Amino acid sequence: MRVAIFGCGQLARMMALAGIPLGIKFSFLADGGPDTDTRCVDGLGDVTFWRPGLEGESLYQALNSPDVITVEKEQVELQLVASLEGLAPIMPSVEAINVCKNRKNEKSLLDELGIPSARYAYVDTVDSFEAEVKSLPFPLVVKSISDGYDGKAQWRIKELDDMKAVPDSAIEGGVIIEEWVPFLREVSLVGVRDSSGEMKFYPITENVHENGILVRSIAPANDLTQPLIEKVEGYMQKIMESLSYVGVLAMECFVTKDDVLVNELAPRVHNSGHWTQQGAVTCQFQNHMRAITGLPIGSTECHGVAGMINVLGPATPPPRELITEYSTFHWYGKTDKHGRKLGHVNFVSDSREKLEEDMQAYLSKTS
Ligand code: AMP
Repeated sequence: MRVAIFGCGQLARMMALAGIPLGIKFSFLADGGPDTDTRCVDGLGDVTFWRPGLEGESLYQALNSPDVITVEKEQVELQLVASLEGLAPIMPSVEAINVCKNRKNEKSLLDELGIPSARYAYVDTVDSFEAEVKSLPFPLVVKSISDGYDGKAQWRIKELDDMKAVPDSAIEGGVIIEEWVPFLREVSLVGVRDSSGEMKFYPITENVHENGILVRSIAPANDLTQPLIEKVEGYMQKIMESLSYVGVLAMECFVTKDDVLVNELAPRVHNSGHWTQQGAVTCQFQNHMRAITGLPIGSTECHGVAGMINVLGPATPPPRELITEYSTFHWYGKTDKHGRKLGHVNFVSDSREKLEEDMQAYLSKTS
C-alpha cells in the first residue's frame, strides 16, 4: 500500500511514523517547490519537489503511483490536488478540503447544517468594509478567508479606528468579520470516519492558545456535561456525513457560559490530538492511515488522563533532559525559528492532579 502526502511538515512526519508499522510506503509532495524544508520527513519516503507543469498523471507518477492521496494541511493548491482525481482516491476529498481551507465556505456549511458559530459578516470590497464592521457589536476579529493559521492574518477590532490596520489587499481577498466570543474555555474534538461510514471520536480536549498558537492541551477536558459532549459529537457527525468524510477531522470550539460554538475545522490530523500518541489506544495518526487505507479504525479510548505541551522556537538543542517517567518527547527536526512549532511533549497519568503537577513542573523548568 502506497500513500502520498501533500506536505512535508511535522504532521506528514507523524502520519508516516504511524503508517510505516502498518506496512505503508510513503511519498511526499514538497508543494512549496525546491526551497521547501523537507527535514521533517527525512528518511521516511521519497520527496517530490513541485515544479511548474507537474500535475495530473506526471505528478501521480512522480509520487510513485500511490494507492491513496492525503494532505497534512488545508492550505494546498486545490487545483493541483484535484488534478489527481480519478488516478487514486483523495481522502479527505477535494470538496472537504475546499470547505475547510476557506473560512467563508466553512461558515456557510456550519450555517447550512444549523451548527452554531460566532456571528459574522463576509466582505470582499473595501467600500462595504466599514458598514459591515459597524453592523456587529465590538470587539470583533477580522480574519482572512483563505490565508492564515495559528492566528495569522487576523486583526482585532476593539474600536472603529482599529479597522485601519486591515490592509485593503486583505479585504479584497475576502474576510469574515466575526464577533469576539467571551469564551470560558477552548476545546476541540478529533474524530475519524472510514469509507463505510463508521465514526469514532477521541475524548474532547481542552486547549490553551497564546497569540493564536496552541501551547498546551489536556484530555479528557474536565467538567463537560454529557449533553454538551453529545452535542459536540453530534455536530462533527453531521459535518462528516454531509461531506462523506474519510479520515481524521478536527473541530475547534469555544465553550461559553451557556453554549458551545464551532470556531474552525481542520481536514486532517491536528495539534490538539498529539496527546493520542501516548494517551489513546490508537493515535490520531494511525487512525487516519487506517481510515484512508481501508483498515478498521482503532479504539479512540483514552489511557487515564493525557496532556501535551508544544515546544516553540527558540529551542536548540531539544530539551531532552526534561523528559520524565511519564512524559515522552517528539522532536520534528525543523530549523529553529522564533514561535515555530519544533516539537511537543506528551504526558500521561492515571490522575488529573498528577498530570497537572507533571505539566507544571515541565513548564516551570522551561519558562
Ligand atoms: P483561529 O485561527 O480562528 O483558530 O483563531 C486562533 C485563536 O484566536 C483561537 O483559538 C482563539 O483563541 C482566538 N480567536 C479566534 N477567533 C475568535 C473569536 N471570534 N472570539 C474569541 N477568540 C477568538
